[in-house]
Amino acid sequence: MKKSLSVAAACLLALAAQAQEPKEAKEAKEVKEPVEALRQRLAERLSTRGEGAATATAKPARPAKPAKAEAAKAAKAAHWGYAGDIGPDRWAELAPENKLCAVGLRQSPIDLREGLAVDLEPIVFDYRASNFSVLDDGHTVQVNVAPGNGLTVMGRRYELEEFHFHRPSEERVNGRQFDMVAHLTHKDAQGRLAVVAVLLERGPDNKPQPLVQTVWANLPLEKGEALQAQVQIDLNQLLPAERGYYTYMGSLTTPPCSEGVLWMVLRQPVPLTAQQLGVFARLYPMNARPLQAGSGRLIKESQ
Ligand SMILES: [Zn+2]
Repeated sequence: MKKSLSVAAACLLALAAQAQEPKEAKEAKEVKEPVEALRQRLAERLSTRGEGAATATAKPARPAKPAKAEAAKAAKAAHWGYAGDIGPDRWAELAPENKLCAVGLRQSPIDLREGLAVDLEPIVFDYRASNFSVLDDGHTVQVNVAPGNGLTVMGRRYELEEFHFHRPSEERVNGRQFDMVAHLTHKDAQGRLAVVAVLLERGPDNKPQPLVQTVWANLPLEKGEALQAQVQIDLNQLLPAERGYYTYMGSLTTPPCSEGVLWMVLRQPVPLTAQQLGVFARLYPMNARPLQAGSGRLIKESQ
């Protein structure tokens, strides 16, 4: 199997494992999961109302039946987080396929600085009003978009697979971290991945970002179950007016940290209201992988 294919396959397998994990194993996992406990404490601390979504998602799991050793092992392999003994510095130890998380030399995110200012060709976005579903996969809020969206860059067409969010932004620009980032994950016919990052920062409180507003309105009440929205979204609404970008070769920022990912980080941040930022913060106070070494990689940026 070509490396590029295995990148996508690993990504999809990870998602499939997440989605198909037996309920029993999932419950057992939640009981002993330190990050869940942390998340719950954080959610409670951040919660200003008793009936909020964070309180609902953080409700204690029912007592679990003893999971079979095999299921427990599988759950452990699939399980990772952002703190403690399942945090980023332990990802490689959690499963053999995560090895690159520790030893890879083209890992993401990185601090985008000292890029070569050149005439980068524009990214040609081909986004349209589309049906979508929203999934809280336990690591982030992920939006699955109906087929037909994509982009073309360097003569190659990539189809949009999904987009999701991190708080704070994983990537930095000259050392600066942003309130959040949206990662729009695309894949070409050969399975090569291209991710567009849209930096999100606090803007005026009277101008909710329309696409984010629609996604938040369709947040599922249960984790692990995608909720089909009854309205459509158009990803053009999430893109900033100015389309200059930074580009470099990196990796998935979540296990298995597969490399060969073309990153395009749009330079102009998009404003969200404090309220919109607060919604995600209640669900995921911190889901950003730490910076990785640049290791001499070339960064190019639009001039
Ligand atoms: Zn991401």
